[in-house]
Amino acid sequence: MAGKSKDPIGAKRRKTQARIADELGKIGFALPGSAMVRNYRCGKANCACHSDPARLHGPSIQWTRKLDAKTINRRLTEEQWRDYQAWFDNARKLRALVGELERLSLEILEEDDRWPRR
Ligand SMILES: [Zn+2]
Repeated sequence: MAGKSKDPIGAKRRKTQARIADELGKIGFALPGSAMVRNYRCGKANCACHSDPARLHGPSIQWTRKLDAKTINRRLTEEQWRDYQAWFDNARKLRALVGELERLSLEILEEDDRWPRR
């Protein structure tokens, strides 16, 4: 071996981190949750959508997200869906990039030889 590198992180990982930072910087607006086209039940208990067999409403565009451990559903118009679809994609990309950055960082920490001895 030609001597240990002075940089424990390494050029390759620094390059990966720079690429992730670059991609993060390019992400525009980001909406939580996901939106999909589906049939649904309304809130009226005596509506046909609650009978058996059920006649569901829709199809409509349902936006689902979690807030304080509760699931929130809202309908979107087709026009809203067209305008905001990319923002859901951005949020998904954001989560993927954060995950990649965390895995990379964990890898570096795991290889650190200064862990306390038991
Ligand atoms: Zn209904």
